[in-house]
Amino acid sequence: MAKRNADLLIVHAAELLPCSGPAEGIRGAALERVEPIADGALAIRDDRILAVGPTAEVARKFSAATTIDATGRLVSPGFVDPHSHLVYGGTRHEEYEAKVTQRAPARRLDGGIRFTVRKTRETPDDLLVEQALGDLDTMLLHGTTTLEAKTGYGLERDEELRLLRLTAGLRHAVDVVPTYLALHVLPEEYADRRADYLRVALSGLEEAAELARFCDVSCDPLCFTFDECLRVGEAARATGMGIRVHADQFGDAGGALVAARLQAASADHLDYASDEGFRAMAEAGTVATFLPGVTLHMCEMTPRFTPEGLGDAEKPFLPLVVRRAIAAGATVALSTDFNPGSCPTPSMQMVMALAARLFRLGYAEIWNMCTLNAARSLDLAHDRGSLEEGKRGDVVVWNVPSHGLVINRFGVNLVDTVVANGRIVVEKGRLKGSRRRTPAARPRAAVARA
Ligand SMILES: [Zn+2]
Repeated sequence: MAKRNADLLIVHAAELLPCSGPAEGIRGAALERVEPIADGALAIRDDRILAVGPTAEVARKFSAATTIDATGRLVSPGFVDPHSHLVYGGTRHEEYEAKVTQRAPARRLDGGIRFTVRKTRETPDDLLVEQALGDLDTMLLHGTTTLEAKTGYGLERDEELRLLRLTAGLRHAVDVVPTYLALHVLPEEYADRRADYLRVALSGLEEAAELARFCDVSCDPLCFTFDECLRVGEAARATGMGIRVHADQFGDAGGALVAARLQAASADHLDYASDEGFRAMAEAGTVATFLPGVTLHMCEMTPRFTPEGLGDAEKPFLPLVVRRAIAAGATVALSTDFNPGSCPTPSMQMVMALAARLFRLGYAEIWNMCTLNAARSLDLAHDRGSLEEGKRGDVVVWNVPSHGLVINRFGVNLVDTVVANGRIVVEKGRLKGSRRRTPAARPRAAVARA
């Protein structure tokens, strides 16, 4: 039998991890299983996976100009990171030190989202793009091949639309899925004029829908109410955008419920979501996306400083919250929430490490949540998130032989090779044919000074 032509073969993987499952995502007890293929192989032509299976089978049927020998290595799908705020100006590292030490900073520091909003407004388009591309390089080097990227540091209609245009215009090997964050936080100048601000948010939707795949609203005691989010969410749906919700991060505002009502693709954070909310999400097919990087970076699971000494932890015990979401039947995913304030890590490997340590999740659960379920959260599970015939050629070859080691070791980048959309874009841990030698050569601070 003549062999069929492929462009790329990856053969002899110690473990090939398909992460395959149903289109609605992997739920319940199935989360605890991955079925690695020993001595695994896959074939890619153009941007698509042609075949996945044992090397003996795949290599018998296909030949290719390029073959990667993955002996001793794990091969997995590229990560899908379904929640980030990619485009922003300035950094918040000084504010962070003051927060963790509870010491007054040496000089007065502006902080919080409003600081980032001001810095973002001050930063010209080309610098914002340059910084975002640098962060995408870092994400790619760490195994991410699809990234959801939302606006949110404009707060005013024209500035949010500027950030959306920049986000949607990014050209990079990481596939960027743009989201318009219509309701993030209420600007101070609207403190007594909430209805006026809703009109501002609504006025941007038509234009946003031309560029954004999703519209996001924040339903939280510190942000917007159930009714406000429902109103903007329904208007956004009418424009054709999918819906995402920042839900119940600082208290139960009914965020999970409004997400289900809006048939949102995903509701994220969910620290205080109710069981009723999780059940409604499961029924509506809304993915529950948890963000362990925020839990770590905001020190939310350690006791807080009080005038009397140490108090309680800031948040409910997150391992139980995640278990409640799984028990309710929701599809659960994980993400970085990459942003300058509450979680500056661009690495899904870090998210995996934290999901085990902070959320007490098992290796198989974590892999399923960072691949197929994360793709489901972007309505892309039919196209990517697993190594299956017909799916996008997004593949990572690792420097370790098993999927458990990626999570067990932490603090180092274990990626050897990344294939994105069928092309080898990272080789031996370095960007191949990229605009940049290494992303570390141009960190944000250096770009900002330039
Ligand atoms: Zn967010």
